[in-house]
Amino acid sequence: MKKEKESDPTCSFCGRKKKETQILISGIEGHICENCVQQAQQIIDEELFQKQKKFQFNLPNSVKPLDIKKFLDGYVIGQDEAKKYIAVAVYNHYKRLNQSKTDEVEIEKSNILMVGQTGTGKTLLAKTIAKFLNVPFAIVDATVFTEAGYVGEDVESILSRLLQACNYDITAAQHGIIYIDEIDKIARKGDNPSITRDVSGEGVQQAMLKLLEGSEVLVPPQGGRKHPEQKLVKVDTSNILFICGGAFEGIDKVIASRMNQSKVGFKKGKDKKDIDKDNFLQYITPLDMRTFGLIPELIGRLPVLVHLDPLDRAALRSILLEPKNALLKQYKKIFKADGITLSFDDDAIDYLVEKAYEYKLGARGLRSICEAIMTDAMFELPSQADMKEFNITRDFVEEKLEDTKVSKLRAA
Ligand code: ADP
Repeated sequence: MKKEKESDPTCSFCGRKKKETQILISGIEGHICENCVQQAQQIIDEELFQKQKKFQFNLPNSVKPLDIKKFLDGYVIGQDEAKKYIAVAVYNHYKRLNQSKTDEVEIEKSNILMVGQTGTGKTLLAKTIAKFLNVPFAIVDATVFTEAGYVGEDVESILSRLLQACNYDITAAQHGIIYIDEIDKIARKGDNPSITRDVSGEGVQQAMLKLLEGSEVLVPPQGGRKHPEQKLVKVDTSNILFICGGAFEGIDKVIASRMNQSKVGFKKGKDKKDIDKDNFLQYITPLDMRTFGLIPELIGRLPVLVHLDPLDRAALRSILLEPKNALLKQYKKIFKADGITLSFDDDAIDYLVEKAYEYKLGARGLRSICEAIMTDAMFELPSQADMKEFNITRDFVEEKLEDTKVSKLRAA
């Protein structure tokens, strides 16, 4: 009997026979298959994550808005105004969390709305602030949502993402930050109320109101509607900071036409000729958001409205070189691991930036351009034992980019 068992061993955890597994490891008492090893590792990782990751819900007293801005400066180039507003909003958010309930003055939530072309650093700002605060963070895309009852996701699943990001630690989630991307895509579709309901536009905006203002929301922990049996979890959103972002394509025309209609510019004493026509976004007001198709109630719940500047050549250059994990620093590190010191000539960098600017690839395109330039070197040099230094010249960059089709250099 025992012999039979030995000749056909099974996994002691899932019961699969040896021939059904790829690897069956034997122990003193039994066996374990590769699947069960993986699952066990997952459980261990999750348990350790729970134990080690301590979220913090307070800002240390010594941290002031200026410190928050300085931290952002380490990762995000330019966008000073957005950084300033975000620093203040976050600082006040924490004051609000710790406000005394003894008087009638109640500090209201300072959810943020960021407007700026794609690839100018909206997501990066939101991510960086979450890193600074050490709170759970989730990014969601507004385009996947529809009004309840229609094909698409319910807005409550925004909170499911946050719960997943902190391993279902509800207290942590209730102090988290959610970045809702492409908020402009849920703008009202046209001014005329049509027969068909606007379920992915105004309907979603309406549904979002209760999340943004702070209320108790029943959340399907696994998100979506695929698991109708899942038990709903109650999440209080009053202390969750919502940051929304969007490119709002065409908003510059809305702003320009509003400013054209007013007699003198947008500010007292500001003459029309002083208006910077290359960057209308800097004059954005909540009124423009309304004209674009956001409902007033939603705008009201996103009281901090900030714009991001388009990235010029100087900004693109700085993005390559300056942030803590700047792209060129990353390549230097990759080569360093093989004992090779990598350097770039200034005019090589200028050329690279020029191409990113010319092809309108923005900051995201910098990466695909760098890959096009560096891939051959990364492939060949590690095998050349005598290679100790590698300098990238303008000629080298030109040659590599000549070989690459512009279509391949998409914004990664
Ligand atoms: P979006 O505005 O579309 O959310 P992202 O924040 O996702 O843009 O930016 C895309 C990538 O481009 C980032 O991961 C980052 O590497 C780079 N980037 C964009 N803007 C900046 C910036 N202002 N400073 C530093 N890096 C930036």
